Amino acid sequence: MIEIETDLLVVGSGAAGLTAALTASASGLKTLVIEKTDYIGGTTALSGGVMWIPNNHLMAKSGLDDSTEKAMDYLRNTVGNRVAEDRLLSFVENAPEMLRKMTEEGWLEVEMFEGFPDYRAEVKGGAEEGRSVEPKVFVGRMLRGIFASLRSRKFSSSIVGTMTELRRLAVIKTSFLVAMKSWRVLWRAVSGKLFRSRYVSSGRALVAWLTYSARRQGVKFELGHRLLELIEEGGRVVGATVESRGLVKKIRVREGIILAAGGFEHNKDMRARYLGKNAATDRSSGSPGNEGDAIASARKVDAALDLMDEAWWAPTFMVPEAGPQIVIFERGKPGQIVVDRNGDRFANEAQPYNDFVKAMFDSLVFDGEMTSCYMIFDQTFRDRYPLANMLPGVTPEKYILSGFLKRESTLEALAARIGVDAGRLMKTVLRFNQMAISGKDHDFGRGDFAFDRFSGDPVATPNSCLAPLDRKPFYAIELFAGDLGTKGGLLTDRFARVLREDGSSIPGLYAVGNCSSSVMGNFYPGAGGTIGPAMTFGYVAAKHLANARDLV
Ligand SMILES: Cc1cc2nc3c(=O)[nH]c(=O)nc-3n(C[C@H](O)[C@H](O)[C@H](O)COP(=O)(O)OP(=O)(O)OC[C@H]3O[C@@H](n4cnc5c(N)ncnc54)[C@H](O)[C@@H]3O)c2cc1C
Repeated sequence: MIEIETDLLVVGSGAAGLTAALTASASGLKTLVIEKTDYIGGTTALSGGVMWIPNNHLMAKSGLDDSTEKAMDYLRNTVGNRVAEDRLLSFVENAPEMLRKMTEEGWLEVEMFEGFPDYRAEVKGGAEEGRSVEPKVFVGRMLRGIFASLRSRKFSSSIVGTMTELRRLAVIKTSFLVAMKSWRVLWRAVSGKLFRSRYVSSGRALVAWLTYSARRQGVKFELGHRLLELIEEGGRVVGATVESRGLVKKIRVREGIILAAGGFEHNKDMRARYLGKNAATDRSSGSPGNEGDAIASARKVDAALDLMDEAWWAPTFMVPEAGPQIVIFERGKPGQIVVDRNGDRFANEAQPYNDFVKAMFDSLVFDGEMTSCYMIFDQTFRDRYPLANMLPGVTPEKYILSGFLKRESTLEALAARIGVDAGRLMKTVLRFNQMAISGKDHDFGRGDFAFDRFSGDPVATPNSCLAPLDRKPFYAIELFAGDLGTKGGLLTDRFARVLREDGSSIPGLYAVGNCSSSVMGNFYPGAGGTIGPAMTFGYVAAKHLANARDLV
């Protein structure tokens, strides 16, 4: 059997693993990253790349008020005691330090996600703006040969823009001046072709920045290498067996292993066992390699698990050819509602995606079975806003023909198409239309919250999230309870060390990102609430390992 020796083995090449590897290598540890698939980046590369970093240095620069105490208040009021207080504090203290280090070293360039409030900004300690930060566009050409190994979406848009820029572009039909603030997108389209810059944005940009910097710091990458088992000697993890194209190799580590192998969203058995039957069907947008391998291997060395019934939930369309597509800001736009199989609204459509799916679980179980629901909208909505890969006003016939998008000239006919009582749907729409005109959603408060308004259309009045559905034809798309990946996994302490059931830590073993049980408990704090902690604990784990070595 081939044997390899290194100081640190990092398993997985998403935000968590790359941050850990970069930090460790810069601290002098010989670091090897193994990645099961042939592509670098995991779900991170498919994501918006936004990081939730309370009290970050960009906020201070912009005069936005934040502090450790304020952020802790927010998390105490939301995560509560579901997660140990010292882990929460470790996140809140280390997140801004991690981001500052990354940017000061020039490893990553970031900017604020303009205007983005926390998902419960109204709660004590919540922030109206500033905690969500995103990567700047990266010039992919700098990665040279390895550019081709960056994971990309199945169908990626040719528009390269930050999340802030893309959000502004979404209202191009109603607020041209707002959209034009994103003029750089046009410039990139032209200059990218001219200079072969290969610009990448959002999650791909984050992965590109981190990969580029990690390689410059001497991190070695092995793609197509899958963790099989951990090797334990005398209660300490000293290595792992990995498999690559049918060959099993042994990797011995002098300092430790950081597991950063994502969640178990694509493991059918684990979904059924842990997420339960309401979420057993895989409608996850997570990266294909995320099958819970790290969790399974650490279980064999007695690791404890937590939050296994949880995921980063997101309402999801199943788009023909493209597959699962999460529905985030679209639900805040005026002119659409979401109804259950009775034709009733059941929640504030504009609320944060994680909360919306929890409302689906609460409201859509009929006779013990989870059902889906439908987003209903009119022609004005279709003309104004992008949706499910469709540009405003452009409705591909293939979506109609495939039945993905149902279109009818009356609401009665639409109700019949989706198997909903026509009278009830008419009643729901009539009531919604009256409330939209008055500007107040008396049933679910849509538009009353900072996040709702952020998703809405700034020029829509009197409520930026409401408009009547009154122009034919009418449309329906089935909406499912999907996820961005799971968030339950290996229980860790404030240094990201993996714990046993008895609370002791397993020497030499760390877990970060979605294979660890989330520091956010059952909550989703704000945009970037998964990647922010993933990077922070990647940084914390690497620092802890490096410090431990220095103490010997
Ligand atoms: C469309 C979309 C948008 C999103 N936007 C955001 C956002 O803006 N902000 C945010 O915070 N979150 C966002 N998320 C969620 C976020 O992307 C993930 O939660 C996060 O990136 C997970 O990071 P990670 O490092 O833990 O795992 P990943 O990025 O998934 O990386 C794990 C890697 O480990 C590899 N691996 C698995 N098993 C093994 C093995 N046995 N051996 C070796 N390697 C293995 C996988 O192949 C994968 O490459 C989004 C998700 C989606 C789908």
